[in-house]
Amino acid sequence: MNKERVAELVKELLEEIGEDPSREGLLRTPERVAESLKFLTSGYDGNIEDIINNAVFKSHANNMIINRNIEVYSLCEHHVLPFFGTCHIGYIAQEKVIGVSKLARIVDFYARRLQIQERLTEQIAHEVMDAVGAEGVGVVMECQHLCMMMRGVEKQGSIMTTSSVLGSFRNDPSTRAEFMNLIK
Ligand code: ZN
Repeated sequence: MNKERVAELVKELLEEIGEDPSREGLLRTPERVAESLKFLTSGYDGNIEDIINNAVFKSHANNMIINRNIEVYSLCEHHVLPFFGTCHIGYIAQEKVIGVSKLARIVDFYARRLQIQERLTEQIAHEVMDAVGAEGVGVVMECQHLCMMMRGVEKQGSIMTTSSVLGSFRNDPSTRAEFMNLIK
């Protein structure tokens, strides 16, 4: 991302919405917005292999591993407004497990770009499945969307839930039920 070019565009945008980019409070706003956007869309630059790097360990565990309440912050691709909430990830290992902090890094990697919640949920599930060669994976995400809260239908209380289940979490109702019960 060319930060100088983005800052120029933000300055033009400020003018178009009726602001005066030369007033004191806005003087450095274009640079700040460019800096902020670079971070919020940093998922485009990274490499998932570098993120997971060396954090997959051999294990004979065959039980369900769950990480609840991972914070999610992303931007909706329709309005470029934030959506945010929590993500719960569960998987059943076969021979490998992944370092717990890496699950959060996987969430950030896919969240830091323009997204829809449904795709974000799917991408996280597939990434965990691929990374550890799991027997099954389940991901549930609960988010609030500012594009619904601040504009549009203005529904402040609504929470959108999405889920993605793969492998045994999809094929075995009792495994899926165990997961859903544990993340409650
Ligand atoms: Zn939206």
